[in-house]
Amino acid sequence: MSLIEDQLYQPKILVIDDERRIREGCAKILRKEKCVVDMAENGNAGLEMIAHNHYDVVLTDLMMPGIGGMEVVSRVRETNTDTVVIVITGFATLEHSIQAMKNGAFDFIPKPFTPDQLRVIVGKALRMTRTLQDIATEKSRLKTIVNYLTAGILVTDRNKRIILYNPALLRMLGYEGEALNDHPLSDLTTDEKITNIINGILELNEGEFKILSAEIEPRNRNANKPLNQLFLRAQAVPFQSGAGEILGSVTIIDDITHLKLMDQMKSDFVSMVSHEIRSPLTTVLSQIKILLDGLAGELGAKQAEILGRMSMKINGLVELSNELLDLSRIEAGLIVQDRKELQLMDVLAELIDFFQPRAKEKNITLALKKTPLPVISADRKNMEEVFSNLITNALIYTPDGGKIIVSGEVRGDFVVIHVKDNGYGIAADEIPRIFERFYRSKTEKTRNIVGTGLGLPIVKSIVEAHNGTVAVTSEEGVGSTFSVRLPVKQ
Ligand code: ADP
Repeated sequence: MSLIEDQLYQPKILVIDDERRIREGCAKILRKEKCVVDMAENGNAGLEMIAHNHYDVVLTDLMMPGIGGMEVVSRVRETNTDTVVIVITGFATLEHSIQAMKNGAFDFIPKPFTPDQLRVIVGKALRMTRTLQDIATEKSRLKTIVNYLTAGILVTDRNKRIILYNPALLRMLGYEGEALNDHPLSDLTTDEKITNIINGILELNEGEFKILSAEIEPRNRNANKPLNQLFLRAQAVPFQSGAGEILGSVTIIDDITHLKLMDQMKSDFVSMVSHEIRSPLTTVLSQIKILLDGLAGELGAKQAEILGRMSMKINGLVELSNELLDLSRIEAGLIVQDRKELQLMDVLAELIDFFQPRAKEKNITLALKKTPLPVISADRKNMEEVFSNLITNALIYTPDGGKIIVSGEVRGDFVVIHVKDNGYGIAADEIPRIFERFYRSKTEKTRNIVGTGLGLPIVKSIVEAHNGTVAVTSEEGVGSTFSVRLPVKQ
Protein backbone atom coordinates (compact mmCIF):
# COMPACT_ATOMS: atom_id res chain seq x y z
CA MET A 1 0.00 0.00 0.00
CA SER A 2 1.29 3.42 -0.87
CA LEU A 3 0.47 6.37 1.34
CA ILE A 4 -0.24 8.65 -1.55
CA GLU A 5 -0.99 8.01 -5.21
CA ASP A 6 1.33 10.64 -6.67
CA GLN A 7 4.65 8.79 -7.08
CA LEU A 8 6.67 12.00 -7.44
CA TYR A 9 5.39 13.48 -4.24
CA GLN A 10 7.72 13.03 -1.26
CA PRO A 11 5.86 13.98 1.89
CA LYS A 12 7.90 15.60 4.68
CA ILE A 13 7.11 14.38 8.14
CA LEU A 14 8.37 15.37 11.59
CA VAL A 15 8.09 12.99 14.52
CA ILE A 16 8.37 14.60 17.98
CA ASP A 17 8.58 12.14 20.86
CA ASP A 18 10.78 11.88 23.90
CA GLU A 19 10.71 8.07 23.59
CA ARG A 20 13.42 7.12 21.16
CA ARG A 21 11.81 3.75 20.39
CA ILE A 22 8.61 5.43 19.16
CA ARG A 23 10.49 8.12 17.18
CA GLU A 24 12.64 5.70 15.36
CA GLY A 25 9.87 3.15 14.90
CA CYS A 26 7.65 5.72 13.24
CA ALA A 27 10.52 7.00 11.08
CA LYS A 28 11.38 3.50 9.89
CA ILE A 29 7.79 2.69 8.88
CA LEU A 30 7.26 6.01 7.11
CA ARG A 31 10.62 6.06 5.30
CA LYS A 32 9.61 2.75 3.74
CA GLU A 33 6.64 4.68 2.33
CA LYS A 34 9.01 7.13 0.59
CA CYS A 35 8.47 9.85 3.18
CA VAL A 36 11.27 12.14 4.26
CA VAL A 37 11.25 11.92 8.04
CA ASP A 38 12.91 14.19 10.60
CA MET A 39 12.89 13.53 14.33
CA ALA A 40 12.88 15.72 17.42
CA GLU A 41 13.20 14.52 21.01
CA ASN A 42 11.14 17.22 22.67
CA GLY A 43 8.70 20.07 21.99
CA ASN A 44 11.37 22.77 21.93
CA ALA A 45 13.50 21.02 19.35
CA GLY A 46 10.37 20.21 17.34
CA LEU A 47 9.18 23.81 17.17
CA GLU A 48 12.68 24.92 16.21
CA MET A 49 12.63 22.51 13.24
CA ILE A 50 9.12 23.58 12.25
CA ALA A 51 10.25 27.19 12.20
CA HIS A 52 12.95 26.39 9.64
CA ASN A 53 11.35 23.68 7.52
CA HIS A 54 8.02 22.98 5.97
CA TYR A 55 6.40 19.72 7.07
CA ASP A 56 3.29 18.20 5.58
CA VAL A 57 2.55 16.22 8.73
CA VAL A 58 3.78 16.54 12.32
CA LEU A 59 3.37 13.56 14.65
CA THR A 60 3.79 14.67 18.25
CA ASP A 61 3.60 13.01 21.60
CA LEU A 62 1.32 14.83 24.03
CA MET A 63 3.16 14.27 27.28
CA MET A 64 6.76 15.45 27.09
CA PRO A 65 9.00 17.31 29.48
CA GLY A 66 9.16 21.05 28.67
CA ILE A 67 6.93 22.15 25.81
CA GLY A 68 4.16 19.56 25.50
CA GLY A 69 2.28 18.32 22.43
CA MET A 70 -0.70 20.57 23.15
CA GLU A 71 1.41 23.68 22.65
CA VAL A 72 2.98 22.24 19.51
CA VAL A 73 -0.56 21.83 18.12
CA SER A 74 -1.52 25.43 18.90
CA ARG A 75 1.71 26.91 17.51
CA VAL A 76 1.51 24.96 14.26
CA ARG A 77 -2.13 26.04 13.80
CA GLU A 78 -1.08 29.66 14.16
CA THR A 79 1.97 29.66 11.92
CA ASN A 80 1.73 26.77 9.43
CA THR A 81 -1.87 26.56 8.30
CA ASP A 82 -1.28 23.88 5.67
CA THR A 83 0.58 21.50 8.04
CA VAL A 84 -1.56 18.91 9.83
CA VAL A 85 -0.75 17.59 13.29
CA ILE A 86 -1.44 14.09 14.61
CA VAL A 87 -1.04 13.54 18.36
CA ILE A 88 0.37 10.33 19.79
CA THR A 89 -1.26 9.51 23.11
CA GLY A 90 -1.25 6.91 25.85
CA PHE A 91 -4.54 5.15 26.80
CA ALA A 92 -4.95 7.18 29.91
CA THR A 93 -4.97 10.51 28.11
CA LEU A 94 -8.04 10.19 25.90
CA GLU A 95 -9.43 13.39 27.33
CA HIS A 96 -6.25 15.21 26.40
CA SER A 97 -6.46 13.90 22.88
CA ILE A 98 -9.96 15.28 22.54
CA GLN A 99 -8.70 18.61 23.85
CA ALA A 100 -5.86 18.50 21.29
CA MET A 101 -8.38 17.94 18.50
CA LYS A 102 -10.34 20.93 19.74
CA ASN A 103 -7.12 22.98 19.56
CA GLY A 104 -6.72 22.04 15.93
CA ALA A 105 -5.02 18.62 15.80
CA PHE A 106 -6.16 16.61 12.78
CA ASP A 107 -6.38 13.23 14.55
CA PHE A 108 -4.82 11.17 17.32
CA ILE A 109 -3.23 7.73 17.46
CA PRO A 110 -3.21 5.86 20.79
CA LYS A 111 -0.11 3.97 21.92
CA PRO A 112 0.67 1.21 21.27
CA PHE A 113 -0.11 1.18 17.54
CA THR A 114 0.70 -1.16 14.68
CA PRO A 115 2.59 -0.07 11.55
CA ASP A 116 -0.65 -0.40 9.59
CA GLN A 117 -2.56 1.87 11.97
CA LEU A 118 0.19 4.47 11.57
CA ARG A 119 0.17 4.18 7.78
CA VAL A 120 -3.62 4.59 7.61
CA ILE A 121 -3.70 7.66 9.80
CA VAL A 122 -0.69 9.35 8.12
CA GLY A 123 -2.16 8.56 4.68
CA LYS A 124 -5.39 10.28 5.69
CA ALA A 125 -3.47 13.27 7.02
CA LEU A 126 -1.44 13.54 3.81
CA ARG A 127 -4.57 13.64 1.69
CA MET A 128 -5.85 16.41 3.92
CA THR A 129 -2.66 18.40 3.74
CA ARG A 130 -2.56 18.07 -0.05
CA THR A 131 -6.09 19.44 -0.24
CA LEU A 132 -5.13 22.32 2.03
CA GLN A 133 -2.06 23.02 -0.11
CA ASP A 134 -4.13 22.88 -3.30
CA ILE A 135 -6.54 25.42 -1.83
CA ALA A 136 -3.62 27.64 -0.81
CA THR A 137 -2.10 27.39 -4.32
CA GLU A 138 -5.47 28.09 -5.89
CA LYS A 139 -5.91 31.13 -3.65
CA SER A 140 -2.48 32.46 -4.48
CA ARG A 141 -3.07 31.88 -8.20
CA LEU A 142 -6.43 33.66 -8.01
CA LYS A 143 -4.86 36.53 -6.12
CA THR A 144 -2.17 36.96 -8.80
CA ILE A 145 -4.73 36.86 -11.61
CA VAL A 146 -7.04 39.31 -9.89
CA ASN A 147 -4.23 41.71 -9.00
CA TYR A 148 -2.78 41.86 -12.48
CA LEU A 149 -6.02 41.98 -14.48
CA THR A 150 -6.54 45.22 -16.33
CA ALA A 151 -10.29 44.98 -15.67
CA GLY A 152 -11.56 46.06 -12.27
CA ILE A 153 -12.96 43.30 -10.03
CA LEU A 154 -15.24 43.77 -7.08
CA VAL A 155 -16.74 40.96 -5.03
CA THR A 156 -19.28 41.58 -2.28
CA ASP A 157 -21.10 39.27 0.08
CA ARG A 158 -24.88 39.31 0.20
CA ASN A 159 -24.86 42.16 2.73
CA LYS A 160 -22.94 44.31 0.25
CA ARG A 161 -19.69 44.01 2.22
CA ILE A 162 -16.55 44.06 0.10
CA ILE A 163 -14.69 40.74 0.15
CA LEU A 164 -12.36 41.06 -2.83
CA TYR A 165 -11.15 43.82 -5.14
CA ASN A 166 -8.09 44.67 -7.23
CA PRO A 167 -5.85 47.68 -7.88
CA ALA A 168 -7.43 48.27 -11.33
CA LEU A 169 -10.82 48.77 -9.67
CA LEU A 170 -9.47 51.32 -7.20
CA ARG A 171 -7.76 53.20 -10.01
CA MET A 172 -10.90 53.30 -12.16
CA LEU A 173 -13.10 54.53 -9.34
CA GLY A 174 -10.48 57.01 -8.16
CA TYR A 175 -10.33 55.49 -4.66
CA GLU A 176 -7.25 56.33 -2.63
CA GLY A 177 -8.41 55.53 0.89
CA GLU A 178 -7.59 52.72 3.29
CA ALA A 179 -7.97 48.97 2.70
CA LEU A 180 -11.56 47.99 2.00
CA ASN A 181 -11.88 44.37 3.07
CA ASP A 182 -15.08 43.86 5.03
CA HIS A 183 -16.12 47.48 4.46
CA PRO A 184 -19.60 48.33 3.18
CA LEU A 185 -19.79 49.01 -0.59
CA SER A 186 -20.68 52.65 0.14
CA ASP A 187 -17.13 53.20 1.50
CA LEU A 188 -15.82 52.53 -2.00
CA THR A 189 -18.48 54.10 -4.19
CA THR A 190 -21.85 55.75 -3.98
CA ASP A 191 -22.34 55.63 -7.75
CA GLU A 192 -26.04 54.93 -8.22
CA LYS A 193 -25.63 52.76 -11.30
CA ILE A 194 -23.06 50.43 -9.71
CA THR A 195 -25.11 50.19 -6.53
CA ASN A 196 -28.27 49.48 -8.53
CA ILE A 197 -26.84 46.60 -10.53
CA ILE A 198 -25.33 45.03 -7.41
CA ASN A 199 -28.66 45.41 -5.58
CA GLY A 200 -30.38 43.84 -8.58
CA ILE A 201 -28.06 40.83 -8.40
CA LEU A 202 -28.41 40.37 -4.64
CA GLU A 203 -32.21 40.45 -4.95
CA LEU A 204 -32.26 37.50 -7.36
CA ASN A 205 -34.12 34.40 -6.28
CA GLU A 206 -32.32 31.21 -5.32
CA GLY A 207 -30.89 29.48 -8.39
CA GLU A 208 -31.58 32.48 -10.66
CA PHE A 209 -28.76 33.82 -12.86
CA LYS A 210 -28.58 37.20 -14.56
CA ILE A 211 -25.95 39.58 -15.89
CA LEU A 212 -26.74 43.22 -15.16
CA SER A 213 -24.69 45.93 -16.81
CA ALA A 214 -24.42 49.68 -16.75
CA GLU A 215 -22.30 52.39 -18.28
CA ILE A 216 -20.83 54.76 -15.76
CA GLU A 217 -18.85 57.96 -15.70
CA PRO A 218 -17.14 57.87 -12.32
CA ARG A 219 -17.14 61.03 -10.30
CA ASN A 220 -14.30 62.33 -8.31
CA ARG A 221 -15.30 61.53 -4.70
CA ASN A 222 -14.19 64.83 -3.30
CA ALA A 223 -15.01 67.37 -5.93
CA ASN A 224 -18.07 65.50 -7.24
CA LYS A 225 -17.04 66.26 -10.79
CA PRO A 226 -16.41 63.72 -13.54
CA LEU A 227 -12.91 62.25 -13.65
CA ASN A 228 -11.09 63.30 -16.77
CA GLN A 229 -13.13 61.71 -19.58
CA LEU A 230 -13.43 58.21 -18.21
CA PHE A 231 -16.19 55.88 -19.37
CA LEU A 232 -16.63 52.53 -17.68
CA ARG A 233 -18.86 49.55 -18.25
CA ALA A 234 -19.80 47.50 -15.20
CA GLN A 235 -21.22 43.99 -15.39
CA ALA A 236 -22.49 42.24 -12.29
CA VAL A 237 -23.31 38.56 -11.81
CA PRO A 238 -24.28 36.52 -8.75
CA PHE A 239 -22.22 33.76 -7.17
CA GLN A 240 -24.06 30.93 -5.51
CA SER A 241 -23.62 28.10 -3.05
CA GLY A 242 -23.85 24.53 -4.31
CA ALA A 243 -27.52 24.62 -3.34
CA GLY A 244 -28.14 27.71 -5.49
CA GLU A 245 -28.37 30.22 -2.65
CA ILE A 246 -27.12 33.70 -3.67
CA LEU A 247 -23.99 34.34 -1.58
CA GLY A 248 -22.91 37.62 -3.14
CA SER A 249 -22.06 39.54 -6.30
CA VAL A 250 -19.08 39.72 -8.66
CA THR A 251 -18.75 42.93 -10.65
CA ILE A 252 -16.30 43.36 -13.51
CA ILE A 253 -15.53 46.87 -14.68
CA ASP A 254 -14.00 47.64 -18.07
CA ASP A 255 -12.57 50.92 -19.25
CA ILE A 256 -14.41 51.74 -22.50
CA THR A 257 -13.13 55.30 -22.80
CA HIS A 258 -11.26 54.66 -26.06
CA LEU A 259 -14.40 53.16 -27.66
CA LYS A 260 -16.53 56.07 -26.52
CA LEU A 261 -14.04 58.63 -27.76
CA MET A 262 -13.75 56.93 -31.14
CA ASP A 263 -17.51 56.81 -31.42
CA GLN A 264 -17.69 60.45 -30.55
CA MET A 265 -15.02 61.35 -33.10
CA LYS A 266 -16.96 59.45 -35.72
CA SER A 267 -20.20 61.25 -34.84
CA ASP A 268 -18.44 64.62 -34.85
CA PHE A 269 -16.99 63.81 -38.24
CA VAL A 270 -20.37 62.76 -39.66
CA SER A 271 -22.02 65.85 -38.30
CA MET A 272 -19.27 68.11 -39.62
CA VAL A 273 -19.41 66.57 -43.09
CA SER A 274 -23.19 66.64 -43.31
CA HIS A 275 -23.26 70.21 -42.14
CA GLU A 276 -20.66 71.20 -44.70
CA ILE A 277 -22.56 69.39 -47.46
CA ARG A 278 -25.93 70.81 -46.58
CA SER A 279 -25.13 74.50 -47.01
CA PRO A 280 -23.81 74.35 -50.60
CA LEU A 281 -26.62 71.96 -51.54
CA THR A 282 -29.31 74.32 -50.33
CA THR A 283 -27.62 77.10 -52.30
CA VAL A 284 -27.67 74.92 -55.44
CA LEU A 285 -31.34 74.14 -54.78
CA SER A 286 -32.32 77.77 -54.54
CA GLN A 287 -30.42 78.54 -57.72
CA ILE A 288 -32.20 75.75 -59.58
CA LYS A 289 -35.45 77.21 -58.29
CA ILE A 290 -34.53 80.57 -59.78
CA LEU A 291 -33.97 78.85 -63.14
CA LEU A 292 -37.21 76.85 -62.84
CA ASP A 293 -39.20 79.95 -61.97
CA GLY A 294 -37.94 81.52 -65.24
CA LEU A 295 -36.20 84.35 -63.41
CA ALA A 296 -33.06 83.83 -65.51
CA GLY A 297 -34.89 83.58 -68.79
CA GLU A 298 -37.46 81.33 -70.44
CA LEU A 299 -36.85 77.54 -70.16
CA GLY A 300 -37.79 74.87 -72.66
CA ALA A 301 -39.91 71.89 -71.46
CA LYS A 302 -36.93 69.50 -71.65
CA GLN A 303 -34.68 71.85 -69.67
CA ALA A 304 -37.36 72.30 -67.00
CA GLU A 305 -37.75 68.54 -66.73
CA ILE A 306 -34.00 67.98 -66.29
CA LEU A 307 -33.76 70.73 -63.67
CA GLY A 308 -36.78 69.22 -61.86
CA ARG A 309 -35.03 65.86 -61.64
CA MET A 310 -31.81 67.52 -60.44
CA SER A 311 -33.74 69.32 -57.78
CA MET A 312 -35.35 66.08 -56.62
CA LYS A 313 -32.00 64.30 -56.31
CA ILE A 314 -30.46 67.22 -54.45
CA ASN A 315 -33.45 67.30 -52.12
CA GLY A 316 -32.72 63.65 -51.33
CA LEU A 317 -29.14 64.59 -50.43
CA VAL A 318 -30.31 67.46 -48.23
CA GLU A 319 -32.65 65.06 -46.46
CA LEU A 320 -29.81 62.59 -45.94
CA SER A 321 -27.58 65.24 -44.42
CA ASN A 322 -30.45 66.43 -42.21
CA GLU A 323 -31.00 62.92 -40.92
CA LEU A 324 -27.28 62.39 -40.34
CA LEU A 325 -27.18 65.61 -38.39
CA ASP A 326 -30.23 64.58 -36.38
CA LEU A 327 -28.69 61.25 -35.59
CA SER A 328 -25.40 62.68 -34.46
CA ARG A 329 -27.20 65.24 -32.31
CA ILE A 330 -29.27 62.49 -30.75
CA GLU A 331 -26.23 60.35 -30.14
CA ALA A 332 -24.48 63.26 -28.50
CA GLY A 333 -27.40 63.36 -26.07
CA LEU A 334 -28.38 66.89 -27.01
CA ILE A 335 -31.96 66.42 -27.98
CA VAL A 336 -34.14 65.69 -25.01
CA GLN A 337 -33.90 69.23 -23.79
CA ASP A 338 -37.47 70.28 -23.59
CA ARG A 339 -39.39 67.68 -21.62
CA LYS A 340 -42.93 68.63 -20.78
CA GLU A 341 -46.19 66.93 -19.90
CA LEU A 342 -47.50 65.63 -23.18
CA GLN A 343 -50.77 64.08 -24.31
CA LEU A 344 -49.66 61.81 -27.15
CA MET A 345 -53.18 61.59 -28.60
CA ASP A 346 -53.06 65.33 -29.38
CA VAL A 347 -49.70 64.98 -31.13
CA LEU A 348 -50.98 61.98 -33.11
CA ALA A 349 -54.23 63.72 -34.13
CA GLU A 350 -52.26 66.65 -35.58
CA LEU A 351 -49.90 64.34 -37.44
CA ILE A 352 -52.75 62.30 -38.92
CA ASP A 353 -54.31 65.53 -40.26
CA PHE A 354 -50.97 66.54 -41.67
CA PHE A 355 -50.44 63.23 -43.48
CA GLN A 356 -54.02 62.88 -44.73
CA PRO A 357 -53.33 64.51 -48.17
CA ARG A 358 -50.41 62.11 -48.79
CA ALA A 359 -52.59 59.16 -47.81
CA LYS A 360 -55.31 60.33 -50.20
CA GLU A 361 -52.78 60.51 -53.05
CA LYS A 362 -52.24 56.76 -52.62
CA ASN A 363 -55.86 56.08 -51.78
CA ILE A 364 -54.77 54.79 -48.36
CA THR A 365 -57.11 54.92 -45.36
CA LEU A 366 -55.21 56.62 -42.53
CA ALA A 367 -57.08 56.59 -39.21
CA LEU A 368 -56.46 57.30 -35.53
CA LYS A 369 -58.33 55.27 -32.91
CA LYS A 370 -58.78 57.85 -30.19
CA THR A 371 -58.40 56.53 -26.63
CA PRO A 372 -57.84 58.59 -23.48
CA LEU A 373 -54.19 58.15 -22.42
CA PRO A 374 -52.28 59.32 -19.35
CA VAL A 375 -49.71 62.06 -20.02
CA ILE A 376 -46.04 61.30 -20.54
CA SER A 377 -43.02 63.49 -20.00
CA ALA A 378 -41.41 64.13 -23.38
CA ASP A 379 -40.03 66.59 -25.86
CA ARG A 380 -42.87 67.37 -28.28
CA LYS A 381 -40.62 67.89 -31.32
CA ASN A 382 -38.98 64.51 -30.69
CA MET A 383 -42.34 62.76 -30.45
CA GLU A 384 -43.45 64.40 -33.70
CA GLU A 385 -40.29 63.11 -35.32
CA VAL A 386 -40.82 59.55 -34.03
CA PHE A 387 -44.39 59.24 -35.22
CA SER A 388 -43.93 61.10 -38.50
CA ASN A 389 -41.13 58.68 -39.32
CA LEU A 390 -43.34 55.68 -38.53
CA ILE A 391 -46.38 57.06 -40.38
CA THR A 392 -44.22 58.08 -43.38
CA ASN A 393 -42.75 54.57 -43.51
CA ALA A 394 -46.22 53.06 -43.30
CA LEU A 395 -47.34 55.28 -46.18
CA ILE A 396 -44.27 54.42 -48.25
CA TYR A 397 -44.25 50.68 -47.63
CA THR A 398 -48.00 50.16 -48.14
CA PRO A 399 -49.33 49.81 -51.69
CA ASP A 400 -52.18 51.93 -53.04
CA GLY A 401 -55.56 51.25 -51.46
CA GLY A 402 -54.04 50.05 -48.16
CA LYS A 403 -54.94 50.86 -44.59
CA ILE A 404 -52.97 52.40 -41.70
CA ILE A 405 -54.36 52.48 -38.20
CA VAL A 406 -52.71 54.40 -35.36
CA SER A 407 -53.90 53.46 -31.86
CA GLY A 408 -52.84 53.76 -28.23
CA GLU A 409 -53.25 51.76 -25.03
CA VAL A 410 -52.04 51.71 -21.42
CA ARG A 411 -49.97 48.74 -20.26
CA GLY A 412 -48.94 48.95 -16.61
CA ASP A 413 -46.82 52.06 -16.19
CA PHE A 414 -46.45 52.53 -19.94
CA VAL A 415 -48.30 54.09 -22.82
CA VAL A 416 -48.02 52.01 -25.98
CA ILE A 417 -48.68 53.49 -29.43
CA HIS A 418 -49.14 51.15 -32.40
CA VAL A 419 -48.73 52.17 -36.04
CA LYS A 420 -50.24 49.30 -38.00
CA ASP A 421 -50.26 48.93 -41.78
CA ASN A 422 -51.32 46.21 -44.20
CA GLY A 423 -48.42 46.86 -46.54
CA TYR A 424 -45.47 44.88 -47.89
CA GLY A 425 -44.27 43.69 -44.49
CA ILE A 426 -40.70 42.76 -43.56
CA ALA A 427 -39.00 39.35 -43.88
CA ALA A 428 -38.42 37.65 -40.52
CA ASP A 429 -34.62 37.58 -40.94
CA GLU A 430 -34.52 41.31 -41.64
CA ILE A 431 -36.59 42.42 -38.66
CA PRO A 432 -33.64 42.45 -36.24
CA ARG A 433 -31.64 44.64 -38.64
CA ILE A 434 -34.02 47.42 -39.65
CA PHE A 435 -33.11 49.58 -36.63
CA GLU A 436 -29.44 49.58 -37.69
CA ARG A 437 -28.07 52.72 -39.25
CA PHE A 438 -28.27 52.74 -43.06
CA TYR A 439 -29.96 49.35 -43.21
CA ARG A 440 -32.57 49.14 -45.97
CA SER A 441 -34.33 46.03 -47.04
CA LYS A 442 -34.76 45.66 -50.76
CA THR A 443 -37.38 43.34 -52.14
CA GLU A 444 -38.97 43.10 -55.56
CA LYS A 445 -41.70 45.48 -54.45
CA THR A 446 -39.64 48.04 -52.56
CA ARG A 447 -36.63 48.16 -54.87
CA ASN A 448 -37.54 51.53 -56.37
CA ILE A 449 -38.32 53.26 -53.11
CA VAL A 450 -35.58 55.72 -52.14
CA GLY A 451 -34.58 56.29 -48.55
CA THR A 452 -31.61 56.69 -46.24
CA GLY A 453 -32.03 53.85 -43.75
CA LEU A 454 -31.76 56.40 -40.95
CA GLY A 455 -35.44 56.88 -40.05
CA LEU A 456 -35.78 53.91 -37.70
CA PRO A 457 -32.39 54.41 -35.96
CA ILE A 458 -33.53 57.97 -35.19
CA VAL A 459 -36.86 56.67 -33.87
CA LYS A 460 -35.05 54.15 -31.67
CA SER A 461 -32.55 56.68 -30.29
CA ILE A 462 -35.28 59.19 -29.41
CA VAL A 463 -37.51 56.58 -27.80
CA GLU A 464 -34.63 55.17 -25.77
CA ALA A 465 -33.58 58.65 -24.68
CA HIS A 466 -37.10 58.87 -23.22
CA ASN A 467 -36.60 55.55 -21.39
CA GLY A 468 -38.89 53.74 -23.79
CA THR A 469 -38.60 50.91 -26.29
CA VAL A 470 -39.72 50.33 -29.86
CA ALA A 471 -40.68 46.95 -31.28
CA VAL A 472 -42.05 45.60 -34.51
CA THR A 473 -44.13 42.63 -35.59
CA SER A 474 -44.41 42.03 -39.28
CA GLU A 475 -45.25 39.46 -41.89
CA GLU A 476 -44.35 39.68 -45.55
CA GLY A 477 -47.37 40.44 -47.70
CA VAL A 478 -49.59 40.96 -44.64
CA GLY A 479 -48.30 44.12 -42.99
CA SER A 480 -46.31 45.56 -40.10
CA THR A 481 -47.06 47.01 -36.68
CA PHE A 482 -44.52 49.29 -35.00
CA SER A 483 -45.15 49.70 -31.25
CA VAL A 484 -43.59 52.47 -29.19
CA ARG A 485 -43.65 52.06 -25.42
CA LEU A 486 -43.07 55.13 -23.25
CA PRO A 487 -43.27 55.49 -19.47
CA VAL A 488 -46.30 57.30 -18.03
CA LYS A 489 -45.36 60.47 -16.14
CA GLN A 490 -45.29 59.54 -12.44
P1 ADP B 1 -35.75 54.14 -44.98
O1 ADP B 1 -37.24 54.15 -44.89
O2 ADP B 1 -35.16 55.45 -45.28
O3 ADP B 1 -35.20 53.04 -45.80
P2 ADP B 1 -35.88 53.39 -42.20
O4 ADP B 1 -34.81 53.32 -41.18
O5 ADP B 1 -37.05 54.24 -41.90
O6 ADP B 1 -35.17 53.83 -43.51
O7 ADP B 1 -36.38 51.92 -42.47
C1 ADP B 1 -35.46 50.87 -42.66
C2 ADP B 1 -36.07 49.73 -43.45
O8 ADP B 1 -37.13 49.13 -42.72
C3 ADP B 1 -36.74 50.19 -44.73
O9 ADP B 1 -35.81 50.22 -45.78
C4 ADP B 1 -37.81 49.13 -44.96
O10 ADP B 1 -37.26 48.04 -45.62
C5 ADP B 1 -38.17 48.69 -43.56
N1 ADP B 1 -39.45 49.29 -43.10
C6 ADP B 1 -39.61 50.34 -42.27
N2 ADP B 1 -40.91 50.58 -42.03
C7 ADP B 1 -41.61 49.66 -42.73
C8 ADP B 1 -43.02 49.35 -42.90
N3 ADP B 1 -43.97 50.06 -42.29
N4 ADP B 1 -43.32 48.30 -43.68
C9 ADP B 1 -42.38 47.57 -44.28
N5 ADP B 1 -41.06 47.81 -44.18
C10 ADP B 1 -40.67 48.83 -43.41
